[in-house]
Amino acid sequence: MTRKLATITTIASISPIPGADRIVAVTMTTNNWTCVAGRDEFKVGDKAVYFEIDSFLPKEERYKFLEGRANKTMNGIDGYRLKTMRLKGQLSQGLVMPIDKFGYTPTTNAQFDNSIADGTDVTELLGIQVYEPPKDYSQGEAKGPFPYFISKTDQERIQNIRGFDMFKLFDHTFEVTEKLDGSSITMYYNRIDVSVKSGDYSENSFGVCSRNEELKRPEEGKVSTPWRMADKYHIEYRLTRYCKENNRLLALQGEMCGPKVQGNPLGLRDVEFFVFDIYDIAKGRYVQAQERYEILEKLNSIIPDPNTYPFPSFNLIQHVPIIWKEEKIYPDLLTLERALQSVQELAIEKSKEPEYQGVLMDDTIWPAFLDNIVRQIARDLLFTAEGKTYTNSRDREGLVYKSTLDSMISFKVINDVHLLKED
Ligand code: AMP
Ligand code: MN
Repeated sequence: MTRKLATITTIASISPIPGADRIVAVTMTTNNWTCVAGRDEFKVGDKAVYFEIDSFLPKEERYKFLEGRANKTMNGIDGYRLKTMRLKGQLSQGLVMPIDKFGYTPTTNAQFDNSIADGTDVTELLGIQVYEPPKDYSQGEAKGPFPYFISKTDQERIQNIRGFDMFKLFDHTFEVTEKLDGSSITMYYNRIDVSVKSGDYSENSFGVCSRNEELKRPEEGKVSTPWRMADKYHIEYRLTRYCKENNRLLALQGEMCGPKVQGNPLGLRDVEFFVFDIYDIAKGRYVQAQERYEILEKLNSIIPDPNTYPFPSFNLIQHVPIIWKEEKIYPDLLTLERALQSVQELAIEKSKEPEYQGVLMDDTIWPAFLDNIVRQIARDLLFTAEGKTYTNSRDREGLVYKSTLDSMISFKVINDVHLLKED
């Protein structure tokens, strides 16, 4: 899955910004972001293209206004990178542009007009890439693609959870952990006979992967920081033993943080590994939080192989910092009730307006009201993300919410304060 960075949308609201007369704050029908635009650029209901933060836009005429303000080079190519900004006190995330700035794109034979449905992903059509800063550590050589039998470590953003998907979250309780700003690695134990018989998977039942690739075990004298993590925490020995003894096929997924990784925001002295998920390869799903803690404890109770590690002290595999173990999205029912009530009140207010006279409260007008609540929830959750890293060195990147009822439901909430300070 590649990230949906450029999307067709419609302007949902336009609000003035106190003390600013040339710019306004805009919300859209397809997401919970707020973006600054020129005062006369849009009317409510206008079609637009929305670019999320981290978009890397090609150097094209239509983006010329970004020149000198967002220039970045990635893999030797010049372009523009979008990031979180504050303009006249208003938080602005991403870029929203009128649909008529696009029109016909000959390279892709695509016609942009009002007939394109909201939510259409135009990332590839417009040649938008995700901006990634250059890697500073050595990953080592790739062995092949990320294993097909493990889920990749991705999290949906709260700003992209909409409508009933947001409401469904009320039924869940969440384990909330600190989102560490490092690099994702996966270490797995899989039986030979259930992995691909041909190719690379057949040789080893233990593997180490970066976010998108499986990595070769480094030869003598070569370095692969993810493989160094496997060694540092004796994960090959511990995971293999645990899996064999308990007849399991598991993948540990975690964040590698420290010097030369994403600028080491935690200020660690050496690179460290923090588990945030355990994937059950046999069942094809993540284990629940409670089971994850238990497996981790059992792994750590396994004393490293005395043949390769003769010393009595050894490193324990860490878990990402846990902020709350069982958290409701709405801390109490009263708050939720009040939110639902305010929606009802809004609906009653609306029904007094002439254009809604005699119109039933059905889907044709309901979504707009729903949207207000959805945005409010997203906003409330964004406040929970603010705070320092567990090392108290900087503003933390954010939080990750994982349902304790359904291990496949999770999302991330990025700290806006951290985003504003981003380079
Ligand atoms: P992003 O870094 O914005 O691409 O967000 C998704 C990534 O966050 C995942 O791929 C993980 O590598 C990383 N991550 C860091 N901390 C956590 C955590 N506590 N839970 C889950 N994922 C995390
Ligand atoms: Mn990350």
